[in-house]
Amino acid sequence: MASIANEIKRRRTFAIISHPDAGKTTLTEKFLLFGGQIQVAGAVKNNKIRKTATSDWMDIEKQRGISVSTSVMEFDYLPEGQEGEPYKVNILDTPGHQDFAEDTYRTLTAVDSAIIVVDSAKGVEAQTRKLMEVCRMRNTPVIIFLNKMDREGRDPFDLLDELEEELQIHVRPLSWPIGQGAKFKGVYNIFEQQLNLFTPNKQRVTEKVAVDINSNELDTHVGEKEAERLRDDLELVDGVYPEFSVDSYRNAEVAPVFFGSALNNFGVQELLNCFVEIAPSPRPTKAEEHMVEPTDPKFTGFIFKITANIDPNHRSCIAFCKVCSGKFVRNAPYKHVRLDKTVRFSSPTQFMAQRKSTVDEAYPGDIVGLPDNGIFKIGDTLTEGEDLHFRGLPSFSPELFKYIENDDPMKSKQFQKGIEQLMNEGVAQMFVNQFNNRRIIGTVGQLQFEVIQYRLEHEYNAKCRWEPVHLYKACWIESDDAAELDNFKKRKYQYMAKDIEGRDVFLADSSYVLSMAQQDFTHIKFHFTSEF
Ligand code: GDP
Repeated sequence: MASIANEIKRRRTFAIISHPDAGKTTLTEKFLLFGGQIQVAGAVKNNKIRKTATSDWMDIEKQRGISVSTSVMEFDYLPEGQEGEPYKVNILDTPGHQDFAEDTYRTLTAVDSAIIVVDSAKGVEAQTRKLMEVCRMRNTPVIIFLNKMDREGRDPFDLLDELEEELQIHVRPLSWPIGQGAKFKGVYNIFEQQLNLFTPNKQRVTEKVAVDINSNELDTHVGEKEAERLRDDLELVDGVYPEFSVDSYRNAEVAPVFFGSALNNFGVQELLNCFVEIAPSPRPTKAEEHMVEPTDPKFTGFIFKITANIDPNHRSCIAFCKVCSGKFVRNAPYKHVRLDKTVRFSSPTQFMAQRKSTVDEAYPGDIVGLPDNGIFKIGDTLTEGEDLHFRGLPSFSPELFKYIENDDPMKSKQFQKGIEQLMNEGVAQMFVNQFNNRRIIGTVGQLQFEVIQYRLEHEYNAKCRWEPVHLYKACWIESDDAAELDNFKKRKYQYMAKDIEGRDVFLADSSYVLSMAQQDFTHIKFHFTSEF
């Protein structure tokens, strides 16, 4: 029988994140090749939602469907030459499209570490910066993969400087590129102190040869000039960067960096082998009541993502539950804490690269898909009876705002229900203005509004209408000074709202108004995420 401690130790639950087009899908696919989950490249669909002039909403639905099936990918992996039980790797997929960034942020609450893919020709891009911010907030250890080294890019040392500066984290290269662009020959594995030369192959995992970097053999493989450069660079790396420590990585103080080309399969195995060795196994999860250790014998878990079924005939959803402690067992009675209700799941699913199957048991770090006919809300906790509340997942101040109105008075019930359900799923955020009682929907991108409208119509038989509202930011406010808080709310009564949890939110209509408010009310804290 599998012991829980053992199962925990071998699990690696993480997300691969990147600015769109940096190579996340390609890298994921190469990992799956190494994991033996797929045989040839091209098997993993990109879950990017492409909006073209001709695409209709069915397209988006189909594309969203793709992201359902690839939401979690799990496989067993044991690096060559190692003995014992394989690692169990759980990759949590995140939507490629920026408009669904909130989804990605929430997924990051369910992982124990992350791999950030950066396009080496482009350097740190907007979305990379934001994702790193979320990782920093949660102390998530990150490894950075500098991809596309087969393109003419920038000097590796410059790139490392940029990472440190832009992402505000110390870095430590654990592999090093040999040449670049057309002359890119592969990477030296600093972590294992060995050079593996791969033949480029976009389709399969290829043969490799081990070479001693101080031997002349290196010169024959990569050329005299490149060999010399590599030896010099490595000397410099050791001089500039402190020795790598696994602890500083796990404490999220240092990000190990790997160079490579996902497309050509250069540097990917180095990354994967090091990752399984150093990445943390499931970590403790903070609940309001206490810290939950993965080794606690009783099952606990929380819902971090809900995805609607794309089949319009079955309006069921899948709720993704991260197992935090104990063992999840099919058909066992669990407590749905928010509803104070006992629930059982007869067909929980686990996910393989291209299929899902029923799962009988799952361990901390695993993700189980639970059929959901409207009983779950993001952030819900399941336990064996304890009244436990995992800390709410953060909401971020949205960037776009619109009033939403019911466009069919005969369907107001459906409209109400639809909105409520979609907000529970975390499709967008809703604020109710306390002055005029109107609902304001806040999103990160335009697509979210369109998805809401489409889904209201197709799943709830309701119609909505958008009306403009001019807002700059929504921020959650709090203060120890009750009188000042009261005074603020009175002064700004037209701009005060409640989020769906009933928390006070200030809707600032310009950055000027916001900074004036911050200046005038020094005892009030203005938060740009809901978790404080
Ligand atoms: P994602 O949006 O981050 O998932 O990026 P994709 O994996 O879809 O990659 C975006 C584009 O970059 C695709 O056309 C890939 O073929 C290409 N790409 C990925 N990795 C590499 C690489 O190592 N070198 C080059 N030249 N192109 C790459």
